[in-house]
Amino acid sequence: MASRLILRAGRERAVLRHHPWIFSGAVERIEGGDPAPGATLEIFDADGRWLARAAYSPSSRIRARIWTHDEDEIVDAGLIQSRMARAVRARQRLAEDPQIEAYREVHAESDGLPGLIIDRYGSFRVVQFLSAGAEHWRETVLGELSNDSCRGIFERSDAEARLLDGLEPRAGLVWGEAPPSHLMIEEYGLRFAVDIQAGHKTGFYLDQRENRLRVRGLISGGQVLDVFSYTGAFSVNALAGGAERVTAIESSSPAIQLAKANLEHNGISAERATWIQGDAFVELRRLRDRGLAFDAIILDPPRFAATRSQVHRAARGYKDINLLAFKLLKPGGRLFTFSCSGGLSPDLFQKIVADAALDAGVRAVIEGWMSQAEDHPVALHFPEGRYLKGLICRRRE
Ligand code: SAH
Repeated sequence: MASRLILRAGRERAVLRHHPWIFSGAVERIEGGDPAPGATLEIFDADGRWLARAAYSPSSRIRARIWTHDEDEIVDAGLIQSRMARAVRARQRLAEDPQIEAYREVHAESDGLPGLIIDRYGSFRVVQFLSAGAEHWRETVLGELSNDSCRGIFERSDAEARLLDGLEPRAGLVWGEAPPSHLMIEEYGLRFAVDIQAGHKTGFYLDQRENRLRVRGLISGGQVLDVFSYTGAFSVNALAGGAERVTAIESSSPAIQLAKANLEHNGISAERATWIQGDAFVELRRLRDRGLAFDAIILDPPRFAATRSQVHRAARGYKDINLLAFKLLKPGGRLFTFSCSGGLSPDLFQKIVADAALDAGVRAVIEGWMSQAEDHPVALHFPEGRYLKGLICRRRE
């Protein structure tokens, strides 16, 4: 018989609201043996009422991740398969869009598959098993994926989240043909080389797809600063949108190499871009000291806060770079500023940006709010799923 997880009195509320996580602090006890990592547990409240079925993560602060709140729904290969099929169906529009070759097919908790990420890059797939529950169903997932039309499946289960779940990092080809070291994808008419095997995340920041297009449409001529540029996806969009020149700041040398190649792949002259390899916090100050000013600035930093407890420190980082960016922005210019820290709310982010403008002595309006692309949905009862937020700020003339 399946083991049972009994919640502390009063801690059933989040589960009843269909939140997918059960934190260690909510757990009263585990009954019925010593379940293996990833095993399915029956979740009960303190009064013995059945609530849910969840995957056990004994090493994580997120002690269990819920598969179903429906007592009639059995957690088996069939459930995993049908959830995967449902996620793929929800991306039908993207799959059929000839302008989009790379998108997320399965977005973990928000697709009812906690810890499982599947990204599609043309005819290749990249998969991440980031929780004990996802790892438990690994063979089922891979079996399902390899039945399909794709040429190869590459695993990138080497993200930090996996370590928190007590799992060893794993990366490599799991099925079919190995993807080329620089796989070409097309995104709204532009071409990008993606390093699936060693790039960040699964190789490309798919969540920023729609925002890159939006930035492209809002740039007309002028000098653009792309901070935290990775492989130059925003830079290429800015130049394709008509920017005269881009200055980009990025700490990773392989990312800059790929960014340079990406200009070439789009027929953009190398002279239109300057790549600064360094720490953005330092380099932004240097640009300011040189008295430079830009017509548009993109700030897309890495996640400064992984958990809610790190938000305070992260807030200082966001304030600092946004303040510097406002100082570097010409009157009438636009700042496209992002945060991908899940623990930082959109409201707090907006407040930090407002404080930064105030301290920079700049007046600005918000012309638009940005979020993650539609293939990174947010389950309504899982607000943490909304991690990417961005503001389009226009400096008053
Ligand atoms: N805008 C990019 C994604 C940026 S991800 C896109 O759309 O593709 C954040 C990037 O910041 C990563 O490439 C990382 O290498 C870089 N980075 C992290 N810390 C940095 C720092 N202190 N200074 C400069 N770059 C940094």
